[in-house]
Amino acid sequence: MYALANAPLAEAAFTILGVPFDDTTTHRKGAKLAPSAIREESYNFETYLPDIDVDLADVGICDGGDVTCESLGDLAILKQEVHQVLDEGSFPILMGGEHSLTPRAVSAFSDVRVVCLDAHLDFRSQYMGKDGHACVTRRIAEQLGAERVMVVGVRSMSRGEKNDAEEMGLRFVSMDDLRLGKKDMKWALGSLGEGPIYLSVDMDVVDPAYAPGVGNPEPGGVTPAEVVRWIDTLADRMVGFDVVETCPPYDNGCTASLAAWFINRVVGSVWKARDSR
Ligand code: MN
Ligand code: MN
Repeated sequence: MYALANAPLAEAAFTILGVPFDDTTTHRKGAKLAPSAIREESYNFETYLPDIDVDLADVGICDGGDVTCESLGDLAILKQEVHQVLDEGSFPILMGGEHSLTPRAVSAFSDVRVVCLDAHLDFRSQYMGKDGHACVTRRIAEQLGAERVMVVGVRSMSRGEKNDAEEMGLRFVSMDDLRLGKKDMKWALGSLGEGPIYLSVDMDVVDPAYAPGVGNPEPGGVTPAEVVRWIDTLADRMVGFDVVETCPPYDNGCTASLAAWFINRVVGSVWKARDSR
């Protein structure tokens, strides 16, 4: 059970689901162990978030357990699982597992834009002949249209992915864009236009110095504080959230802890944004 869990689904403003799946990982295996590692780390934190003055103990939170998926095809069940959460008026939070859960979770929403925080563009049509965690933004763009997808924090892609992104109209904010002040989250949100947002955080967007336990570590990333700023910025538009790609066998505890920290901040920020609406 996640530390904050205090309510059944019907009474929960937020519902956490684990997706222990890592069948398509390409470098380091072990993301399927992340939901239990993140739950364990969640017990480290105070329920009170002083910066935003929210006590998470006052918020109804359900831990809906794990959604068991043996193969990529099984992930299709996430559409129903997320639907069920939304039907109860609850805000879905998914803990991966690897990133391929996101297009399936997003398919449960009728009108949504997707912001992925990711070191990788994940825009391959296929990788090694298959769909998988390197094809996430591509699958979402196929569902929603590329103009509804935004990737922030990117610093790794193939030339083919870059060409495809330009051709299909997928926009992104690279690390250089951020560091040189060419583009930022404000630009990203302006480009996406009005409407609800699903936020997907691939833990490898964070620099490996802070988040070493990921499937495909990529140097030169953002700090945890930058991710928190973005969560706060998106909070009043956010309708769903996932945090993916934590890989416990390569972790020193920091990555799973950070994933729990992001989940807590999403709950607090979204709760506060609704409260002040
Ligand atoms: Mn990814
Ligand atoms: Mn990635």
